Amino acid sequence: MAQTRRPLIAGNWKMNGLTSDGIERTRALIEKMAAKAQPFDLLICPPATLLAPVAAALNGSAVRLGAQDCHAKASGAHTGDISAAMLKDIGCSHVIVGHSERRADHHESDHAVHAKAVAAIEAGLTAIVCVGETEAQRDAGKTAEVVTSQVLGSVPARANHESLVIAYEPVWAIGTGKTPTAAEVQEVHALIRETLAGQIGEAEAAQTRILYGGSVNPKNAKELLGLPDVDGGLVGGASLKADDFWAVADASR
Ligand code: PEP
Repeated sequence: MAQTRRPLIAGNWKMNGLTSDGIERTRALIEKMAAKAQPFDLLICPPATLLAPVAAALNGSAVRLGAQDCHAKASGAHTGDISAAMLKDIGCSHVIVGHSERRADHHESDHAVHAKAVAAIEAGLTAIVCVGETEAQRDAGKTAEVVTSQVLGSVPARANHESLVIAYEPVWAIGTGKTPTAAEVQEVHALIRETLAGQIGEAEAAQTRILYGGSVNPKNAKELLGLPDVDGGLVGGASLKADDFWAVADASR
């Protein structure tokens, strides 16, 4: 079944980039992607301020555009927030929800992440739902329990393999240069797929892409992205340099 899942390499730029460097990086990726047909999907998720100019630069390119968050409501009195419909309107195909930095910095619960994922799917976007244990939870042997409960609490039952991507991102691996072993990553991904099967059905779960995220770089990408239940990567730091991001994508082929 794995061969039916086309790798997705998603770059999360987080709160980095002004117009000039964001557009420069985008243009470099457009050029690489246009050189020949690639066996992977490439997605960039710039900060909200860059969505419009990056969307304009991407016009007609195979590189996809995603946002880093959305509000659970379609519109209304929510100062500073952006709805999924607005993201769709500007040219996004994906939105990340429940990134651990939002779960921590903005106290987002599984319930809140679930509501955002529902809003994203209703707006016609693919929700990239992030899950992952903290270092303390891992040290306490609770990785499986935490990840299972996050998947059950955050993934809408109406999701399918087109409207949903899961990103497994151990919190302790994000931006630290540390990663779980390949065997540990595969074990958690297989558990996520099994959990997902109970929620959205076995056939959909078998086709849903589960990305690994947490210190993916050009050196470790081949091993991590080559695992049977790993269908691409959610890449932070290494997505800020077009060559490094491309090298990660290249490793998924
Ligand atoms: C992320 O923020 O989603 C991430 C995985 O970051 P990094 O690749 O820098 O660890």
